[in-house]
Amino acid sequence: MSEKAMTITYPVKNGIYVNMTNRCNCACTFCIRFQNSGVYGSDPLWLEHEPTVEETIASLKTWNLAEKDEIVFCGYGEPTKRLEDLLEVAAWIKANTSLPVRLNTNGLACLEYGKDVTPLLAGKIDCVSISLNADTKEKYLAVTRPEFGEAAWEAMKTFAHECTKHVPDVVMTVVDQVTTPEEQKNAAELCRELGVRLRVREYVG
Ligand code: SF4
Repeated sequence: MSEKAMTITYPVKNGIYVNMTNRCNCACTFCIRFQNSGVYGSDPLWLEHEPTVEETIASLKTWNLAEKDEIVFCGYGEPTKRLEDLLEVAAWIKANTSLPVRLNTNGLACLEYGKDVTPLLAGKIDCVSISLNADTKEKYLAVTRPEFGEAAWEAMKTFAHECTKHVPDVVMTVVDQVTTPEEQKNAAELCRELGVRLRVREYVG
């Protein structure tokens, strides 16, 4: 299989992950895109072209979805760069399966589109998982290097809070290996203020 093979969907544990774009509006220092060509033992996740909605649904249909636990929009890039298309796929999932749908995101979609897009998630996304990455604005900006600059910190937090109005489960994540107990405590407090939960996750390299 070439480095540019099309891995649109891939299994992780008992879920199916969906990879619709390699584009991103951040340049995180730890981004796995700069280190490996796959993740969780998947085939290479660099796309030779961005799959259409139809191609993505066709790829989902190749799995026995009735036996799966969840579907996750994750990708090797920022899924919300294709927000409209991912929501179309999510609508298909909701209409054709009983699986919960999770969106893993950097939380910058409202900045990307210049408006509050969180109402669009209602009924299609069951869980939004936002990469918080740090407990202060300075550390967050240094690590994620968003193309929007400083505005990203407040926008990402606002996105998280607004999601709680439309999505049943909203979680922010920090990586265990690269944050101190003190930073995790601060992150938990920040999440509490935003009305979301914190998940301290393992680094996936
Ligand atoms: S937001 Fe995700 S895909 Fe984008 S640079 Fe950061 S880690 Fe990589």
